[in-house]
Amino acid sequence: MNKDLADSTNTLHGARKTRANDEPVTPAVTVATSFFTHPDSIGFSASDLTDDSPFFYTRWGNPTIDLLERRLALLQKGEAAVAFASGMAAASALLFWKLKAGDHLILSNVCYAGVAELAHETLRKFGVEVTTVDASDPQNIARAITPKTQLVHLETPGNPILRLADISAIAEIAHKHGVEVSVDATIASPIGLKPLTLGADYEIHSLTKYVCGHGDALGGVVIGKKESIGAIRKDSLIHLGAALHPLAAWLILRGLETLSPRMLLHESNARRVAEFLEKHPRVDKVYWPGLPSHPQYELARRQMKNFSGLLAFTVKKDGESLARQLADRLKVISYAVSLGKTMSLLFRVPTEDILRTSFHMNDRDADAYRKWAGDGVFRLSVGLEDADDLIADLDQALK
Ligand SMILES: *Cc1c(COP(=O)(O)O)cnc(C)c1O
Repeated sequence: MNKDLADSTNTLHGARKTRANDEPVTPAVTVATSFFTHPDSIGFSASDLTDDSPFFYTRWGNPTIDLLERRLALLQKGEAAVAFASGMAAASALLFWKLKAGDHLILSNVCYAGVAELAHETLRKFGVEVTTVDASDPQNIARAITPKTQLVHLETPGNPILRLADISAIAEIAHKHGVEVSVDATIASPIGLKPLTLGADYEIHSLTKYVCGHGDALGGVVIGKKESIGAIRKDSLIHLGAALHPLAAWLILRGLETLSPRMLLHESNARRVAEFLEKHPRVDKVYWPGLPSHPQYELARRQMKNFSGLLAFTVKKDGESLARQLADRLKVISYAVSLGKTMSLLFRVPTEDILRTSFHMNDRDADAYRKWAGDGVFRLSVGLEDADDLIADLDQALK
């Protein structure tokens, strides 16, 4: 398979071995095994692993996981990929491999709460210095770089308020100082964003979300240069041990087959719902990268190939009691915390809670967050249901 096939073709066929006549069309589930019999060909050290090593133990590699890794690398125009048991495992694998005591990490001040807490609490415990910045202005990154800075970690769109970061502008600034850039592109999905083509050094996805899509498996991936991915496989996958289960890899590969058409429908449904919410009298602001009213719409159009199905909105008053009302009254949409599933999910993220527990912002950045998010955002992961049914469900529940 060559690198120039379209995403929709690669999600179905990418990195497949040439198929023999009698081979099944789906990857075999029989490789849900923890080990393989190759008594003579491997050593005991992770350093013995080479490109030609046979599969012998699933924490090191497995045919089903290998197909998923190679397919995702191809799809995102990366040299190689390494999969993990969850998105958090992928993020921590990268951060623990890349950073050591005395190093400095610059982190987007709006990002997945688990990643923010991992940086502020766990990495700090190991002597890593962490600075959070509002990454919507690349100059904030430039100002935060010190001689000890090793990595800038971005999430775009950023959870939960869907603020964006300009990957090429930030990569240019960081690279001038010899600093690498990683991007968590989970919310955009691989169809919506190709961070490596914009200058990022590493790309992370929680495969649990859009890629799997069905909410029936956890997984994560880091994509990047072959040499770095090989080192992450050794230091973080083999030694830290958060290996993906081959059955989860199989479920994620099956989800990946329909990612491209699902994202088209997530996007067009999100547009319809966002336009409805923008006109609703109870709603204050709606944030979705595909709306011309998004403060960074021009950047979204330049950087994203699909605006995805996740939107956020604020209401004029009584957000907290409205959350309870929506949880009680919504019939099609579930009040639940995940995103990227086939079915629509809604959840409210109260501003003061997340500022206190996860984000560790300075006062000025916290004020900017409050200005964007009010006292809380409703995060709506628009699913694949009929858009009119979703709108009618929200309409009756918002009354
Ligand atoms: C869910 C999520 C993660 C964590 O992924 P898990 O698979 O739940 O561990 C990381 N980043 C983003 C943006 C996410 O949405």
